[in-house]
Amino acid sequence: MKNQEAWDTLRRECAGCQGCELGRTRSNLVFGVGNPESEIMLIGEGPGEQEDLQGVPFVGPAGKLLDSMLQMIDLDRNKVYIANMVKCRPPRNRDPQPAEQVACRGWLNRQIELVDPKIIVCLGRIAAMGIIKDDFRITREHGQWFTLGGRMYMATYHPSALLRDPSKRPEAFMDLRALRKEIREICTRTY
Ligand code: SF4
Repeated sequence: MKNQEAWDTLRRECAGCQGCELGRTRSNLVFGVGNPESEIMLIGEGPGEQEDLQGVPFVGPAGKLLDSMLQMIDLDRNKVYIANMVKCRPPRNRDPQPAEQVACRGWLNRQIELVDPKIIVCLGRIAAMGIIKDDFRITREHGQWFTLGGRMYMATYHPSALLRDPSKRPEAFMDLRALRKEIREICTRTY
């Protein structure tokens, strides 16, 4: 794998992180999963209960829905790289606080540098506000493309939000179709 040594170092350093309060209460740090050489990266907000227990992002019901969403456009976890804004579980599944996101951002930035994706998809409002722009409105701006620093960015609803409100699923499906189209247009590999 490209950059194997850098990934090993990053993972090892991140595993010992106590950069914010979330480090004290985690069961497991949730680093990331998928293909680190993919041209497509998905970024969520933070681990939930199952993710914390298993040390893997997007497991449990939201993870299953994400897998189904990826399947709809011929993707799966082995074809993309998935990470979160914060690597440790916020208590009671609350939103990660701004200070926690800032404390954790260096790890995510390093992951983005190493993957070097052409496309980043933010899953949910928190990731979109942290990555695309701080006044991002998910209900209005999901599915729109933004060009930042030579990469294409888009946000769609977080799978947990789609579980809570299934009426949003058709909009999310349109976002996925837009993602599939963009992949065809700008990715150099076949997905
Ligand atoms: S959430 Fe991020 S910054 Fe905070 S302890 Fe975990 S890895 Fe470190």
